[in-house]
Amino acid sequence: MQSTSSVKVLYLVGPGRAGGTIIASLLAEIGNFVTVGELMHIWDRQSLPRRWCGCRKRILECEVWKGVFRAAFTGMSELEWQRAARIYHQFLPTRRFPRFVLPFARNSILKEARAFLHATYRLYAAIRDMAGGKVIVDTSRAATYGYLLQQVPGLEVHFLQLTRDPRGVAYSWQKKQVEVLEGQRVNMKSRSLLASAADWNAQMLAASWLLRHARRRSLCLRYEDFAHDPRAALAEICRFVGAACDNLPDALEDIQMSVHHTFAGNYNRFRSGCVQIVPDQQWRADMPLLQQRVTALLTWPWRRKYGY
Ligand SMILES: [Zn+2]
Repeated sequence: MQSTSSVKVLYLVGPGRAGGTIIASLLAEIGNFVTVGELMHIWDRQSLPRRWCGCRKRILECEVWKGVFRAAFTGMSELEWQRAARIYHQFLPTRRFPRFVLPFARNSILKEARAFLHATYRLYAAIRDMAGGKVIVDTSRAATYGYLLQQVPGLEVHFLQLTRDPRGVAYSWQKKQVEVLEGQRVNMKSRSLLASAADWNAQMLAASWLLRHARRRSLCLRYEDFAHDPRAALAEICRFVGAACDNLPDALEDIQMSVHHTFAGNYNRFRSGCVQIVPDQQWRADMPLLQQRVTALLTWPWRRKYGY
């Protein structure tokens, strides 16, 4: 049976390819955290059979997720699943964020999402109980889902806004990443320069809007500052959520990474064993100057606002 006490969530918001996956994994290694990946996609039920867990098994074959699903969703009707899927498709993609801006439209979404919010509490409470009360790190990043999470009674949501130079983000999106899972080659999504710049702007705008509604529970972290001094950045995050970080080592260049049962996200989540933490500044040397200039132009003025 689930405990009804509050569930602490650290929700990462902002553009992808900004170090969120590695930060979430490191938190789970050094402190009182459990990383679950991009959990918002759990509501896209049709995609569940295709999803991979960070342990390299299919989500529906992973014992951890089977236990969570049993605790959270037993008794959930077909109609409730359909409603949850409708909320996911209609309101959660970042391009739908303008619907949240006007108060009357926002209230109408919240009314429609009432059952969804209760199911969401059951999901996060099941993970909290499975993880022995640890803080849940959710790397979903979408401001729309972050806003809804904050409305869930019983969830205490802290927002970590991640930023990164948009040229580094664009360069990272263009790289091809392939993973071999159960003998199959799986390609990670890539993005063109223009799509990356447009997404970076949209994510920064939506995150900035969300943090105005964050009830003072927000912290901004630049990828570059994290990469320069990961130990200080992780300690700051632990202080921010009031979590112990007893296992913070003196040096974080090489760290033994465990297997984490993450739901979706960057393919870095499949890495375990000895992992090197080094600043990824490859774009400065390898990205053509024209591409750097175009990205810089397209992402002004948010880029200037965050000091890039
Ligand atoms: Zn797993």
